[in-house]
Amino acid sequence: MRGTGTFKMESKITQSLITELERIQDPQDLIKEILTRFGERAAIGTSGQLTGSVMIDMAATAGVKPRIFTIDTLRLFPETYKLFEEIEKKYGVAVERIQPDPEKVRKMVGENGEYLFFDSKEKQEFCCHLRKVEPNERVLDTLDVWLTGLRSDQSAQRATTPRFEILTHGEQRRPILKVAPLVNWTEKQVWDYINLHKVPIHFLLTLNQDGWRYESLGCIICTTPIGPHEPRRAGRWRWFNVTNPEDKECGLHEQKVKKDEV
Ligand code: SF4
Repeated sequence: MRGTGTFKMESKITQSLITELERIQDPQDLIKEILTRFGERAAIGTSGQLTGSVMIDMAATAGVKPRIFTIDTLRLFPETYKLFEEIEKKYGVAVERIQPDPEKVRKMVGENGEYLFFDSKEKQEFCCHLRKVEPNERVLDTLDVWLTGLRSDQSAQRATTPRFEILTHGEQRRPILKVAPLVNWTEKQVWDYINLHKVPIHFLLTLNQDGWRYESLGCIICTTPIGPHEPRRAGRWRWFNVTNPEDKECGLHEQKVKKDEV
């Protein structure tokens, strides 16, 4: 029988869990352990980047069927959708496409225009919040562990990305473990794995014209290739580069760590 006092659900996400997982150095072993322990309450989030595909391959070849999601802003490159179809076919998995609230998108576009992100940093962040952060919050409602492909060498802002991070989610401030199994991998390690295991990758990431190449993948227009000497995030929202050439994020990976609340 349910009591009348305050009921506080025990969280599985604790500091001792992290201590236990920290002992697992091999990314594939770590991914397998997490997916086995947490089942549907853990998922790989991918935007079509190389590390997302690597993590999916690692899970599949370790014998676990991963839950996978992507934030479908409705403005992704056609090649991004094609990659997800390839992944689904190769590994027999489903990639959940989490989309923004259509009513909110209609209102935002009606009031600000389709290309509001050109107007100001605030409007770009508003668009990213509505199309990316909100849908991501919705998927986090269903998770205890979020596996991401972040790597510390992707930008100055990501240089301090930890392998394990506890986020507090929603009004209940429920702890969620965010894990970056490949955080310390170099770009060479990623490519070596991809070539060795024949991992399906995003077509745009295979292009290179006189050193110009796609580094990160986001929405059409907001994502452009970077030149040979540009910072890795320079291709995002290029029109803001005069004031902010490197540390540009969409809000998905900017939640604060709240270890003391766990
Ligand atoms: Fe909007 Fe551009 Fe952000 Fe996509 S990347 S959500 S189109 S501002």
